[in-house]
Amino acid sequence: MTAQRGVWYTLFDMTQAKCDLNKNAVGRFAPTPSGNMHLGNVLCALLAYLSAKSKGGKFLIRIEDLDALRCPKSSAYKILDDLAVLGIISDETPLFQSERTAKYAEAEERLREKGLLYPCFCTRKELHAAHAPRLSDGGVVYGGACRNLTAAQIEEKLKTQKPCVRIQVAEKTLSFTDGLCGEISQDLLTECGDFIIKRSDGVYAYQLAVTVDDGECGVTEVVRGNDLLSSTPRQLFLFDELGFARPQYYHIPLVCDAHGRKLSKSEGDTFGDLLHRKPPEAILGALAFAAGILPENRAASLRELTERFDWALVHKDRILLPEL
Ligand code: GLU
Repeated sequence: MTAQRGVWYTLFDMTQAKCDLNKNAVGRFAPTPSGNMHLGNVLCALLAYLSAKSKGGKFLIRIEDLDALRCPKSSAYKILDDLAVLGIISDETPLFQSERTAKYAEAEERLREKGLLYPCFCTRKELHAAHAPRLSDGGVVYGGACRNLTAAQIEEKLKTQKPCVRIQVAEKTLSFTDGLCGEISQDLLTECGDFIIKRSDGVYAYQLAVTVDDGECGVTEVVRGNDLLSSTPRQLFLFDELGFARPQYYHIPLVCDAHGRKLSKSEGDTFGDLLHRKPPEAILGALAFAAGILPENRAASLRELTERFDWALVHKDRILLPEL
């Protein structure tokens, strides 16, 4: 006689199969603590958490406080505390970029050994006066004025100017498939240009730090706002040059309030206030509903949302928060 396996066993089997499928998944949330988190940031943290956990993977939080003056430790701790109230906790001690300069310097050295770096003395005024094509993040496509300076020219300029460090991009189109936005391509030379990896004040640029951190932590999936979509080819270029495996990207759409207005960090501590007014499960449920994971706006636990989570449910165009 063969024993009949109960329903619970089948469900257990299915859950295991789902977990085993990608249990090496490593997700992360990487806030810049330059102010209070708004609900769009919290939603991003939630989706990053659910995506990694629904595969049985690991979830990390990294504090992007490269700009130490704009990013006080107190803001970083508040972000960690507020997320913890929702149960969104890093599986490892959160990294602080301000403490990882040595790692970025190592990566800079590796890129220099490959002959990819050069000092750039161009001023902001010169860059903008050059009528170069604009990048969607407000920068300009660098025309390469300092790319071929001679050693003597560099020595002369160093007497009066502090350069930033640029990386020379390859003459190629970089493509990737975003989990929400689909196929994305960027011609590195004409749409991006040689970009800065270290500022003239010695602070490493976001593009380098984020790549080194995601690469070294073995991050397999990056969930973030689609305002960073145009940065991704630069990061993929660095991933390739530094020999790290590329992660899968999910760029989430703009999150708006119930009136369709863009959220901003400066509008008081709306999330902090909400945490005092509403139980965590009501906030989680409302965020999950806004994203498309729950069909109605009701309280839900992180556990329930992890079980329900599927990227196919997540809205691709705009996320409208309900009245909270
Ligand atoms: N630190 C960035 C922000 O707060 C996010 C960077 C990333 O996720 O790659 O907008």
